[in-house]
Amino acid sequence: MSKTTFSLGGVHPSDVKIAREKAIEVLPLPQTVYISMAQHLGAPATPCVAVGDQVKAGQVIAEPSGFISAFVHSSVSGTVKSIGARKDLSGKDMTHIEIAVEGDEWVEGVDLSDTLVTDIPQDKAAVLEKIKACGVVGLGGATFPTHVKLNPAPGSKAECLIINAAECEPYLTCDYRIMLEKTKEILVGAAIMQMVLGGCKTVIGVEDNKPEAIAAFKSAIKELGYQGMEVLPLKKKYPQGGEKQLIDAVMKRQVKSGGLPISVGAVVQNVATALAVYEAVQKNKPLVTNTMTVTGDCLPESGLHNYLFRIGMPLSYIAEYAGGIPSDAAKIISGGPMMGKAISNMDACTVKGSSSLLYLSEKTTKRQSEGSCIRCGKCADACPMGLEPFLLNRLYKVSDMDALEQNAVQDCIECGCCLYSCPAFIPLLDYIRQAKGQVMGIMRARAAAAKAAAESKTENK
Ligand code: SF4
Ligand code: SF4
Repeated sequence: MSKTTFSLGGVHPSDVKIAREKAIEVLPLPQTVYISMAQHLGAPATPCVAVGDQVKAGQVIAEPSGFISAFVHSSVSGTVKSIGARKDLSGKDMTHIEIAVEGDEWVEGVDLSDTLVTDIPQDKAAVLEKIKACGVVGLGGATFPTHVKLNPAPGSKAECLIINAAECEPYLTCDYRIMLEKTKEILVGAAIMQMVLGGCKTVIGVEDNKPEAIAAFKSAIKELGYQGMEVLPLKKKYPQGGEKQLIDAVMKRQVKSGGLPISVGAVVQNVATALAVYEAVQKNKPLVTNTMTVTGDCLPESGLHNYLFRIGMPLSYIAEYAGGIPSDAAKIISGGPMMGKAISNMDACTVKGSSSLLYLSEKTTKRQSEGSCIRCGKCADACPMGLEPFLLNRLYKVSDMDALEQNAVQDCIECGCCLYSCPAFIPLLDYIRQAKGQVMGIMRARAAAAKAAAESKTENK
């Protein structure tokens, strides 16, 4: 079995995929869902229902409000109770639509059966429109609208569609479960995207800690008879699932600073996105469900789960259904332990991209006290983006924003490899994340000012 991986940096945290044997269970419906208008990267959607309206599952309840935005659908049938601000996962106010659940009626035309539909439609424009209408967004973390990513700008050509099946974050197993339980659906979704991209090669990149998934994909590709599609086992290394790292591992090409994957002929889509594309195009089902892992080092074996959830389910409801929050949970995280975000509010609700409820104990999360940099260079060796985290940290401490930009802090993918490697326990990721936020704010303001100046020049001509 040939093995490959990305070339720069990376670390090897322990796998801890303790929920890997847990088959996907369907979460029962709660009494109420709260559906956020910010389920995707870009502009939040605009509600198009009113308080008192009756809605069905799969019905559009909010429309895109920009080029980078997406439709949002109701995940349940019932009555719209309120539309207003509610705290999201990070504790920020965001508009949510509250729906009281009544029965489970879906809009007409959605096929909820398990019947596999393998014929690949060939009308590219119609397929893109369907993906857009079903509100499909990238489910690998970025939640970028999929119809935009699958429609590269004129002059760019996709040479390779990479299906991200790395799931390199410790603990998370929901992608692994769909790889085993929805193998063919994922491949049909990949074949649909391959058609949309003009028939380019498709590579499914799977880390070698998932031999069962590798075998399942290989046998299903053979059975389906799909051409130009192959499985590539990847040597386990974190963050293999990073877009630029996966492109390097699969194509041996590097995306330049500020560049997009398409600049090197690549389009990367996650396995869960491929499944959502299948459901949208072949089953007419909008993106209102996804899978998530309930896991952590302070849960008993019976508390580990992989769930199929609907968007808008309160996290507190899921936690309670799963057996309650363990008393020794020191931290609850949405996402993996390396890149996930601490949950400050269990009343927040699931969104399209939710992937976990991760409970970590004091022992795992306790930070050692911060020491002084000993200039060992381990953080730079570990950085998969070729940055110098010790330098970025130093520059942030003296607020040198120009130097931070020159040293490409904006390229940081917030993977946490530097923090993981630092023997002085310096919270590099925290500092670098803040520095990146400030520098990107400056860059955005500069671009907006340049655009406004160019427009005013044109008007004055
Ligand atoms: S968090 Fe940023 S700086 Fe640190 S290793 Fe990852 S990419 Fe490099
Ligand atoms: S790993 Fe820590 S101690 Fe070593 S150079 Fe980087 S910041 Fe300094």
